[in-house]
Amino acid sequence: THFGFETVSEEEKGGKVYQVFESVAKKYDVMNDMMSLGIHRVWKDLLLWKMHPLPGTQLLDVAGGTGDIAFRFLNYVQSQHQRKQKRQLRAQQNLSWEEIAKEYQNEEDSLGGSRVVVCDINKEMLKVGKQKALAQGYRAGLAWVLGDAEELPFDDDKFDIYTIAFGIRNVTHIDQEAHRVLKPGGRFLCLEFSQVNNPLISRLYDLYSFQVIPVLGEVIAGDWKSYQYLVESIRRFPSQEEFKDMIEDAGFHKVTYESLTSGIVAIHSGFKL
Ligand code: SAM
Repeated sequence: THFGFETVSEEEKGGKVYQVFESVAKKYDVMNDMMSLGIHRVWKDLLLWKMHPLPGTQLLDVAGGTGDIAFRFLNYVQSQHQRKQKRQLRAQQNLSWEEIAKEYQNEEDSLGGSRVVVCDINKEMLKVGKQKALAQGYRAGLAWVLGDAEELPFDDDKFDIYTIAFGIRNVTHIDQEAHRVLKPGGRFLCLEFSQVNNPLISRLYDLYSFQVIPVLGEVIAGDWKSYQYLVESIRRFPSQEEFKDMIEDAGFHKVTYESLTSGIVAIHSGFKL
């Protein structure tokens, strides 16, 4: 079984995807904000809420690009971990909140052992991600690995959670790999464009996708074709239910999904038992 849903040949697809992301890497974040009117940020935040990672979680973010999911993960576990530690400190040592805040000013690694590995096939995307990490002060608990989702350079049973956000469309065979690298009990989470379930939104969405997105691509990134490909690949992606079946066929259990923004995107979740 595999998540093979596109009709282009693998060789053709691999080359095309690489070119697309190489040519857009530098403008990637700007384009994301422009094209989604900033909403991709909310979708990614929601993925984190759904994941609700505990301190100590080992996350693999595949097709992680410029690190959006990884940075959110680090923020999330840090705030969770610190909240818990601060409550304990206050209870044990009877410190005031001001005194506790001072204790944490120089805290280096406050992640409680959590770690995220960003894996992407495109070194330009990773380069932009690393620069962002430096600029925004993310150091601990973060690693960048160049690698193919279809042949992940990791051992079996290694991660607690596997995420892939807006990346699965580009990958033909990822199921065995996602399943392989997850520990038993580990969770697969996918954020991806899906099928719009509201007729009015669907009309507007079509208009926007086919008329506006390629124009934005041309104006901002000088690249009409890449953005046309993007819109087409979104349309070829299976519906929420079809994709759920594929995840189940790949061996995951308790597969569920949640449609966001009238189904423009969906988050699918499944467990390796
Ligand atoms: N996850 C990031 C986000 O949500 O902002 C980036 C998503 S971006 C639309 C898709 C990413 O998938 C690109 O960075 C691209 O290089 C990567 N990608 C495409 N094919 C891949 C593959 N076979 N293995 C790993 N990454 C791949």
